[in-house]
Amino acid sequence: MDLSLSPSEEAFRREFAAWLRANLPDEWRGRRLRGAPEGPVLVARRSWERTLGAGGWLGVSWPAAYGGRGATAMEHVIYLEELFGAGAPDPLNTLGLNLVGPTIIEAGTDEQKQRFLRPMLRGEAVWCQGFSEPDAGSDLAGLQTRADRDGDDWVVNGQKIWSSGAQYSDWCALLARTDQDAPKHKGISFLLVDMRSPGITVRPIRQISGDSEFNEIYFDNVRVPGDQILGEVNGGWLVANRMLAYERGVITMEMLAGYQRLWEELRDYARATRRDGAALIDDASVRDRLVRTYVDVQLMRLANLRLITRYMRGAPPGAETSYMKLYWVTTEQGLADLSLSLAGPAGLAMGGERLRLYFMSRAASIYGGTEDIQRNIIAERVFGLPRG
Ligand SMILES: Cc1cc2nc3c(=O)[nH]c(=O)nc-3n(C[C@H](O)[C@H](O)[C@H](O)COP(=O)(O)OP(=O)(O)OC[C@H]3O[C@@H](n4cnc5c(N)ncnc54)[C@H](O)[C@@H]3O)c2cc1C
Repeated sequence: MDLSLSPSEEAFRREFAAWLRANLPDEWRGRRLRGAPEGPVLVARRSWERTLGAGGWLGVSWPAAYGGRGATAMEHVIYLEELFGAGAPDPLNTLGLNLVGPTIIEAGTDEQKQRFLRPMLRGEAVWCQGFSEPDAGSDLAGLQTRADRDGDDWVVNGQKIWSSGAQYSDWCALLARTDQDAPKHKGISFLLVDMRSPGITVRPIRQISGDSEFNEIYFDNVRVPGDQILGEVNGGWLVANRMLAYERGVITMEMLAGYQRLWEELRDYARATRRDGAALIDDASVRDRLVRTYVDVQLMRLANLRLITRYMRGAPPGAETSYMKLYWVTTEQGLADLSLSLAGPAGLAMGGERLRLYFMSRAASIYGGTEDIQRNIIAERVFGLPRG
């Protein structure tokens, strides 16, 4: 693996860096605008998303034929490093641009591509993912939300939970059971649902951190036109799995860029802060933990580059993407622990940024497929061990 950048990759970096210098408003620079987007933060992030869209800097790795830049996986990494490095607001439509859009490109009809892709690229349509239910998380195929045919439409009834960002999303990628008698994996369809449809109720869930990052969504006789099924009727399991394959690949790049930025913030904080008459950075235990977390970030980066090299050679994402999910957990939780202890007792203030980050980091072991499930996949598919 060659870790140096090619001249065209360097040119890509310079082009985006110059665009950011010219277009990222000063008042947003250096502010992460983290957490559940609400009120003015949501307004700012929506506006920044549209600015990126107007500049042609959303969906960079989508094929040019669908309005993207056809960027390679390595260029996508460079894009994220520049975006996060400049202290730009966190991307809002992560699910749409990284998961739903590429899945529509793969599995959508021409009409669906025409209709759904451009608004995402303009930063005008935010998507959420309606997969998990109260009794269907790890065992997703056990989902009970149903869609019944009525003329040309489907009528959806049921409940989803943990749907990140549903409270401000325009569209939902929804899994529903469309054949009640088929074996559980074979009776599911993938629906593209307008979140403004009558019969949808979104209830934010207040978390221990004080944020409402995710929601319950209730569907009460929600009508979805027949041409808003992605892929085959009852073929949704296949489409969902293609979408999830993107999750641990592409989203890892975005997480990593955020971790790199957070590590630099913590280092700068330790340099700039004095406690008990000495700079934090001169405390041996602080230096030790900074080094450990740096190593975690670099290991994750190298493992990710190896994965990207595979993609760029045309290899499909395999079971090893499960390792990446385990890297998220170690790296994010290590950084959040460090962040909290650097702040000292003041970090424990409820409502404070560091405590929020710490609480959110605990969720890393669950979202995107739990640690246990990833370990099962690695044990069975990589090590060839018998099923547990
Ligand atoms: C911050 C956050 C954001 C999320 N965003 C979304 C979203 O936008 N859309 C969405 O659809 N979902 C979302 N989720 C839901 C997430 O995908 C589920 O929480 C996850 O799949 C686990 O499902 P569950 O919560 O039902 O737990 P369960 O599946 O009930 O698991 C409970 C425990 O049992 C363990 N377990 C379960 N099965 C096995 C097994 N076979 N072997 C060993 N251990 C097992 C699990 O590891 C876990 O520790 C989000 C979750 C979080 C925390």
